[in-house]
Amino acid sequence: MLSHEVIVIGGGHAGTEAALAAARAGARTLLLTHSIETIGQMSCNPAIGGIGKGHLVREIDALGGAMAMAADAAGIQWRTLNASKGPAVRATRAQADRALYKAAIRRMVEHQPNLTVFQAAVDDLVIEGGRVRGAITQSGLRFEAAAVVLTAGTFLAGRIHVGLQNHPGGRAGEAPATTLAQRLREGPFVVDRLKTGTPPRIDGRTLDYSVMAEQPGDEPRPVFSFLGSREQHPRQVSCWIAHTNERTHEIIRGGLDRSPMYSGAIEGVGPRYCPSIEDKVVRFADKASHQVFVEPEGLDTIEIYPNGISTSLPFDVQLALVRSIRGFGNAVITRPGYAIEYDYFDPRGLNASLETKAVEGLFFAGQINGTTGYEEAAAQGLLAGLNAARHVMQREPWSPRRDQAYLGVLVDDLVTHGTTEPYRMFTSRAEYRLQLREDNADERLTPVGRELGLVCDARWDAWSRKAAAIAAERARLQAIWVAPGGALAQALEAATGIAPSREGTALDLMKRPELDYAALAAVPGLGPGVDDAAVAEQVEIGVKYAGYVERQREEIERQRRHEDTRLPADFDYAGLPGLSAELQAKLAQVRPETIGQAQRIPGMTPAAISLLLVALARRK
Ligand code: FAD
Repeated sequence: MLSHEVIVIGGGHAGTEAALAAARAGARTLLLTHSIETIGQMSCNPAIGGIGKGHLVREIDALGGAMAMAADAAGIQWRTLNASKGPAVRATRAQADRALYKAAIRRMVEHQPNLTVFQAAVDDLVIEGGRVRGAITQSGLRFEAAAVVLTAGTFLAGRIHVGLQNHPGGRAGEAPATTLAQRLREGPFVVDRLKTGTPPRIDGRTLDYSVMAEQPGDEPRPVFSFLGSREQHPRQVSCWIAHTNERTHEIIRGGLDRSPMYSGAIEGVGPRYCPSIEDKVVRFADKASHQVFVEPEGLDTIEIYPNGISTSLPFDVQLALVRSIRGFGNAVITRPGYAIEYDYFDPRGLNASLETKAVEGLFFAGQINGTTGYEEAAAQGLLAGLNAARHVMQREPWSPRRDQAYLGVLVDDLVTHGTTEPYRMFTSRAEYRLQLREDNADERLTPVGRELGLVCDARWDAWSRKAAAIAAERARLQAIWVAPGGALAQALEAATGIAPSREGTALDLMKRPELDYAALAAVPGLGPGVDDAAVAEQVEIGVKYAGYVERQREEIERQRRHEDTRLPADFDYAGLPGLSAELQAKLAQVRPETIGQAQRIPGMTPAAISLLLVALARRK
């Protein structure tokens, strides 16, 4: 019971995906977490996905992870963001029932073969001779394993702030991991502080929805998992939109002298893209109003989450600012908003496998690597769990490339550039986003996930059937020739008004912007086409974007020439003639694993890369 192959510490979003992935990959895995009741707990907004984040969720799913399936079991309002834009930036977002989400994750953890859960606070890691050997709990139990994945979230030396009051805490109502944080600070890691925050929660019965704009979910309703279906979704509800006003902003400005952020009580840097309402009022002083998304926390609770007014102002100011919002005049707060500061580790201390460079077999994932968000945490967890299992099986680590997955972009950004503020995913971070779409995450990752042992038979069969259906439909359309004036061309013109001027295949016809798959398949002789919307979507996108995707593929090939050229871990950058002292220092700090990673270090020049290549050739 006390000896395993992989130990995962922390049952949040990173920890559960890590434990599930390690177990799926074949390692005897133990999940140690503070409380079994909080497995899969959403610390902040009960929502999954969004721009960039939805892409990560689909990738986790394509690799056999849990997040998308849990979202399908819990999503109570669904939207396709950027629906009018190109498929590369379209993103799925689900408002989740907090309790249903947590229950779905716990169910998957409890039923995963190879995985044991034990409720305990970990106070220390066992490290001997530069290798991790296990973990020690608060009650003195010593668990052994050759690989450990740490995913402690916001709990390491967590400190909660409400106004000028503050106290130790991991998140509201939960104890922090103080001893573990202390022990890690004594270790060979670069530690700093970040902060994040959350809004007060409100009794939804005390709001006047008649003065707010209703925001029902989108139809057709998106589905997250490649194995999911709409039938799994629970009852659907609407969200609502309200607005702050000048009076709200006045109240906030009046409370700034008691704000922990503006009085200097908080040192950690907060998420730039998810600022508190006091931050928004100060930074965008000319804006008379900010949106507040009024989002239900679940089907069986009266609590709502007012998205957009995250705050750590004193409670009296919180109450006044909430009540100044139209529709919130009689609002009753059920939980105060707060900010939390916590320890994180400089992710440049990690390899792309998420193993720490300082301690063999020790992996870090999630918020402790400087990221923010459930999706970013879960994606890292899956990767770290997989690589922990591969480590104990003495297999090569795996990490996706930047042109293969958002997960590759996330990890490469972190380990190459580090971060000084909470890092969140955006589509703009991916240079190859035409390839990295939500809709083709299975095509990009399920085959490799199968090879890695992450993908179960049911998922593999589903993907194989879909891939065969896409290929068959493409072949069918490729084999139909449409000649000007011919019977098919006349049928096409009658149905769509489009008269082809030269001979081509039915597949070629779809390159025309005014002709989509559904219209083409409705033409007698060209249809009836496939029923499966996901197959039809892939056929259509494959044709419409073929030119762009091909150009991007050529660019990737050009970049890849040296991308995978490995740099030895003991490379002596200090002794490299012609390289500036600044670049020597940067290279020595990052210790890039490949030339590709070295290229992305800020300030790196083509001349410096040439020097590296020459020096590498000399070593051989
Ligand atoms: P967590 O979800 O924090 O999970 C950590 C787990 O580790 C917990 O189960 C904990 O009990 C366990 N644990 C910790 N230490 C130990 C130990 N020593 N022994 C055993 N178990 C341990 N994200 C956004 O995208 N937008 C936001 O606006 C946002 N606001 C947030 C506001 C607050 C107040 C908080 C707390 C978080 C917020 N987040 C936000 C972040 C989001 O919650 C995290 O990014 C996400 O939960 C990180 O996942 P994780 O698995 O790394 O850590």
